[in-house]
Amino acid sequence: MGNKFRFLPDISSDQLESIQLDGLKWTVKHAYTGSPAYREKLDRAGVEPGDIKELSHLEQLPFTTVEDLRLGYPFPLLSVDHEEIVRVHASSGTTGKRKILAYTKKDIDTWKNMMARCFELAGLTKKDRVQIAVGYGLWTAGAGFQLGCEHFGAMAVPLGPGNLDFQLRFLTDLQPTCLCSTASMALLLSEQVEKTGLKDKVKLKKLIFGSEPHTPKMRKKIEEALNLEESFDIPGMTENYGPGTGLECREHVGMHYWADVFILEIVDPETLKPVAPGETGEMVITTLCKEGVPLIRYRTRDLSRVLTDPCPCGLGLPRHDMILGRSDDMIIFRGVNIYPGQVAGVLEEFAEVSSEYQILLRREKGLDFLKISVERKASGSVDNDQVIAGLISERIRKKIMVRTELEIIDPGKLPRSMGKSKRVVDERNI
Ligand code: AMP
Ligand code: ZN
Repeated sequence: MGNKFRFLPDISSDQLESIQLDGLKWTVKHAYTGSPAYREKLDRAGVEPGDIKELSHLEQLPFTTVEDLRLGYPFPLLSVDHEEIVRVHASSGTTGKRKILAYTKKDIDTWKNMMARCFELAGLTKKDRVQIAVGYGLWTAGAGFQLGCEHFGAMAVPLGPGNLDFQLRFLTDLQPTCLCSTASMALLLSEQVEKTGLKDKVKLKKLIFGSEPHTPKMRKKIEEALNLEESFDIPGMTENYGPGTGLECREHVGMHYWADVFILEIVDPETLKPVAPGETGEMVITTLCKEGVPLIRYRTRDLSRVLTDPCPCGLGLPRHDMILGRSDDMIIFRGVNIYPGQVAGVLEEFAEVSSEYQILLRREKGLDFLKISVERKASGSVDNDQVIAGLISERIRKKIMVRTELEIIDPGKLPRSMGKSKRVVDERNI
């Protein structure tokens, strides 16, 4: 049977292994010869390119961290001559100092193909119109979606984030069928569509959204308010080209990732040893054909797991679960480690509140306090707030083992974001 896709590869696991081994050998050699920083790291670890003979030798290679990128600022881990670089992008600075990544012509081509795969997997055709409401410029998001959309052959409407009136005008006038945005921006737009009563005039069918974690509640709210047929979570990070390192397929169980472009390992963030198949840990990435800044066992800090069973959609490319959050999102409160995602998980259980919450940490007289604000659902009643708040904080105490002050507030009261939402405000060291 021929491959029914134009961009998605039809590869068997044997073929994948051989592509990965060739790519791994190439990458180690390329980094070793092209980048003094990588050569020094590999020398220190006692590994030479010729040592890589099988895929399991990956584990002998040293990890690369965000610190390596910072040390080499502004051209960290550059492995080609400067004249080969055709573009740079910088990360949105989720954590700390901005990272600048350099791309060769081939890197841009690889990325464009990765993004085209995303549109194909989401079931778009050339007839689709794609409103791209993510950051343009230094950020990878806008450039990535646009490159991929044009390469795929659909019509790009490159709006960028912001300006809700403008977004709505284009949604109604140009009738885009697919929206690309962060989860927060999609929520904001869906609320705006509800407020302005434009639901019938908007013809969106699909949403491709990512850049930050979302909850099922948030997704449902967006899908309903925008009258969508489907939505697709998209993973990605500047270090690994940008958005579009994979995509949910139409089964919507985890995300297929492009294992012919990078190797994904899941390691225990403490021991740095691979976790058992299917267990959650830190995503570690090794690129297979990235020229400008190859990644060798790059510690992403993102937490997820590999889904081990074959996907019902039949695509041979492996899958990972949703990105649960980042290991550096962890809050330490009175000696207890908490991830914002755990709080979101508890809020998921209560139909009376919406997906929007914020965690506030304060210190008073040497003691830490944690307050969670969560919005009431539009259909809910203020009269029930006290009881619901009591039930939620009790559940948090049982599940996460911390005492919190819980406040239920009016819908729409928490700050909205056109990029990534800030779920935690830590005022303890101010
Ligand atoms: P950036 O600095 O803009 O490259 O952001 C990359 C980071 O955004 C990743 O390392 C993740 O922490 C987060 N991220 C990107 N896509 C997703 C997604 N689909 N779900 C959850 N987090 C995501
Ligand atoms: Zn699938």
